[in-house]
Amino acid sequence: MSTENRGKSEIIVQGISASQGIAYGQVFLYIQSDVEVPAYQVEPAKRLDEVVRFDHAILVTRHQIQKIMAEVDKNLGPDEARIFDAHLLVLEDQALIAETIREFESTGFNVETCFNKVSQRYIRAFSEIDDEYLRERAGDIRDVAQRVLQNLLGQASQNLSQLVEKRVVVANDISPSDAAGIDSSQALAIVTDTGSKTSHAVIVARSMKVPAVVGVRGFTKQARAGDWVLVDGYEGFVILNPSEQTLFRYGKIQRQKKGFEERLFEANRQPAVTLDAVSITLRANIEKIEEVALVKDYFADGVGLFRTEYIYLNASRIPSEQEQYLAYKTVAEKLAPAPVVIRTLDLGGDKPMAGAAHLFPKEDNPFLGYRAIRFCLDHPDIFKDQLRAILRASAHGVIHLMYPMISGREELARANAVLDECKAELTDKKIAFDPKLKVGTMIEIPSAAITADLLAKDCDFFSIGTNDLIQYLLAIDRGNNSIAHLYEPTHPAVIRMIKNVVDEAHKQKIKVSVCGEMAGDAVYVPLLIGLGVDELSMTPPLIPAVKYLVRAMTLVDAQKLANEALEMTSPKDIYALCETFYRERVKLE
Ligand code: PEP
Ligand code: MG
Repeated sequence: MSTENRGKSEIIVQGISASQGIAYGQVFLYIQSDVEVPAYQVEPAKRLDEVVRFDHAILVTRHQIQKIMAEVDKNLGPDEARIFDAHLLVLEDQALIAETIREFESTGFNVETCFNKVSQRYIRAFSEIDDEYLRERAGDIRDVAQRVLQNLLGQASQNLSQLVEKRVVVANDISPSDAAGIDSSQALAIVTDTGSKTSHAVIVARSMKVPAVVGVRGFTKQARAGDWVLVDGYEGFVILNPSEQTLFRYGKIQRQKKGFEERLFEANRQPAVTLDAVSITLRANIEKIEEVALVKDYFADGVGLFRTEYIYLNASRIPSEQEQYLAYKTVAEKLAPAPVVIRTLDLGGDKPMAGAAHLFPKEDNPFLGYRAIRFCLDHPDIFKDQLRAILRASAHGVIHLMYPMISGREELARANAVLDECKAELTDKKIAFDPKLKVGTMIEIPSAAITADLLAKDCDFFSIGTNDLIQYLLAIDRGNNSIAHLYEPTHPAVIRMIKNVVDEAHKQKIKVSVCGEMAGDAVYVPLLIGLGVDELSMTPPLIPAVKYLVRAMTLVDAQKLANEALEMTSPKDIYALCETFYRERVKLE
């Protein structure tokens, strides 16, 4: 790295790390501003023409979006192109269009003014929703509304096509339309004022494989076009006018990370076996059918958690048994003989289904509410459609089924009874399914963990959902930033609980997997393995780092670590113990 910014003082700001990597370059400043909308009265004789003009603008906008979708599909891939489905839905929203026409008929103002007023109302309503995902959709509406307004006013749309040299894109926000205009070979990194881990900017940066830091409040006001900036997408730092010392330090970090990534990549081709020859099963967590490719790319031993709710979340209605069957069958066939653990629906709570909102009441405590198996047992038709789909797909590969949010033995028995009904129905109709289909229970509610001995009698395996288990055990909302520091996977209560689950499972000869985020963090892996966990399941890109560590440790050492941790009282000390274990075995250089 060379220095080009003599004399200016270094400014370090912290945002949210959104896409990994380090980049250094000059700022390309991109500020989106809202289209200026003139307001005037339309003469009564011209009102029909005004409505026609509006219809035409909607049509033109739809064509533009479809064109962008085709380009994005070609340049970035189908997943990224699908972001624009939400845009087309906004344009098809009859309420938005009808309200604009009503506004026009009652006020007589030009359609730009009416459409702007109505769309702003929608944007405000979405921006105020608690759910992060839905809040981000305000950006979709804004993006489409701006495009419609530009078309009504005959303005060229703003985009990032002026990015013709390698630069760091610094923007207040990056909408999907902006993203479509980025020449990915010219963007060194992306930094945005707004955004969270689910922003479009993040999806785009990851798909372009460039570092990104989002949520760097006010950064577009600090940076000037042409300033030199260093982006640390690992830790979420953005450093304006970095000093020579900083550049030197980052140069070293970058070389280390690169060398380490190459070693990880190499290790990932090898089996996950400890130095004392114990083989550890590493599986993948997936949400979409297309992620099957990642399972193979990262050499995972099949899928340990298929979060099926995403098939529902993206649909405008509950998907039919046949639609689900085809989805599950595709995944099973593509991965056979490796197993695929399909988790039944975990909708509700923080994941209400937009296309079936009437089924989910507004709740004060959604995480303690109407979700997952509770919802399914209350809607046997929906549940049975899914169970039949999974059973039918089990004839085409190795499928295991697992229930989320089981709180105790009665609930498990009820779920199994519904499954038996489905099996009987299929048998009557002579429809094939795997009669030996394994059925597991997620252990993510403390009551289930404490009664693991009872649950183990009625299922074939356990999968510990540490994300929820920790949240419920420590009473820490997993999505609440202000208490995030209290969310401690190394809390003695968590470790003891996992130990109890493993011991009770093993007494009854069933296996235990961990499929929460803890399983994909290499620092915790020796602790989990030392506690006796048999399998780990994680987001595929995390597999190389976990495998690297597995190959650098012995089971005996991991067991010693776990025994020591079980004697300790402080979460911080236990974490430090795990970190030391990790650092002693994994060196960046
Ligand atoms: C968990 O709770 O750890 C888990 C894997 O499930 P989810 O994150 O989907 O709630
Ligand atoms: Mg969970």
